[in-house]
Amino acid sequence: MALLEGALRVNLLANSRSFYKFTSFVGVRSLSENVSSKPVTSSSPEVAGDHVLYTQEHFALKDSLKKLIDQEINPHVDQWEAEGKFPAHKVFKILGSAGFLGVNRPAEYGGLGLDYSYSIAVAEELGNIRCGGIPMAIGVQTDMTTPALARFGSEELKKEFLLPSISGDKVACLGVSEVGAGSDVSSIKTKAVRKGDEYVINGGKMWTTNGAQADWMCLLANTSDGPPHRNKSLICLPMNLPGVHIARTIDKIGMKSSDTAQVFFDDVRVPCKNIIGQEGMGFTYQMLQFQEERLWAVANVLTTLDIIIQETIQYTRQRKIFTQPVLYHQAVHFRLAELQTEVELLRSLLYHATALYIKGNDVTKLASMAKLKAGRLARELSDSCLQYWGGMGFTNDVLISRFYRDLRLISIGGGADEVMLGIICKYMDTLPRK
Ligand SMILES: Cc1cc2nc3c(=O)[nH]c(=O)nc-3n(C[C@H](O)[C@H](O)[C@H](O)COP(=O)(O)OP(=O)(O)OC[C@H]3O[C@@H](n4cnc5c(N)ncnc54)[C@H](O)[C@@H]3O)c2cc1C
Repeated sequence: MALLEGALRVNLLANSRSFYKFTSFVGVRSLSENVSSKPVTSSSPEVAGDHVLYTQEHFALKDSLKKLIDQEINPHVDQWEAEGKFPAHKVFKILGSAGFLGVNRPAEYGGLGLDYSYSIAVAEELGNIRCGGIPMAIGVQTDMTTPALARFGSEELKKEFLLPSISGDKVACLGVSEVGAGSDVSSIKTKAVRKGDEYVINGGKMWTTNGAQADWMCLLANTSDGPPHRNKSLICLPMNLPGVHIARTIDKIGMKSSDTAQVFFDDVRVPCKNIIGQEGMGFTYQMLQFQEERLWAVANVLTTLDIIIQETIQYTRQRKIFTQPVLYHQAVHFRLAELQTEVELLRSLLYHATALYIKGNDVTKLASMAKLKAGRLARELSDSCLQYWGGMGFTNDVLISRFYRDLRLISIGGGADEVMLGIICKYMDTLPRK
């Protein structure tokens, strides 16, 4: 009964200004106390069908976020893409006030205290944003910079960095990759040398999403000269400290509205208390943090893949060649059916991995498989669909070309396909023995 009341309240409030905040913080939070893994049965699969993972609360959350995206984000996307950046502080404040930046974070830091399946639901819904760059920037804030802080950080650090990141008052970035170290995270060179009760940081980071606008960085640095998997630490680094320099924002082929910075550190002094968890555990924490990043990325891309297929169906249904719609050629509708089948297979893998993850299992292998498949499918699907748009697909006037460029990143960022294969092989125990 409580579930139905909540869903009803969501619908009734759909047009009110306070809708987002209410449905997120009051509706979803109060309902979350009754959350069970029991799937909801309904005659309307769109709202809450026989879903393996999502309950009515997930659908209420998704519905609320969709409205926010349609009203506050999508109308501006073309402009932000053209400008090469989006106003992260403004957009994050809107999302944070509505409760979407910390659905699985503890309530004492402003989160909704829900399990990770709700983050996956949010990630899926963010796929409705009409570009890849803004969802990626949001994902960096929610699921790439803060998992380790939420899990291992001190109270003081969580108050200073986690809480304002969840409320949308601070923009976060992740500093792992460097000019000389991307796939091989263990070979990073940035050093944080302890001097008294401070670390002095020298080095630089490359490819830092949100870097030009961020208030703080979750920085991976070498804090000793020990073995590469045990000499690193994660440090909360305010970006306004003397010695932090934004060298440039990088001109990319896609993800245009997301700023990607190269950052240098020149004798940056940060208190030792800004370390997340234990010194020397940074590599391990970062590897754990990558699991959420990868599941999040898969969830996010699934919706985009659905949109690409749907937009392609619409276009090819009205575009006629050789006296009939492009869609009616069997090569076309069969191909789209094949691609949709692949999307559903990936979705099943994601839900399976997520269901295991929220029960406390290590899903490194499954998350790596899902990320690998997502990268490959995104390339295959966006390429196949673009083909059916003919010359239109090669213009900047249609969404398909933007996604074609944006989705190319999935096979590279957050661990390239080959890195995923290496992890899977490790779990399959098929790597050559040293
Ligand atoms: C737009 C964008 C945003 C990003 N955002 C962030 C961010 O916010 N924070 C951050 O820390 N990083 C970020 N990255 C960095 C990203 O994670 C790295 O680009 C990625 O890990 C690959 O590292 P690399 O570019 O140094 O490529 P390299 O490590 O030089 O690898 C090059 C290629 O080698 C191949 N390769 C890798 N390993 C193997 C192997 N074992 N066997 C065979 N071939 C292999 C792969 O095809 C790979 O693409 C971002 C990157 C981009 C492009």
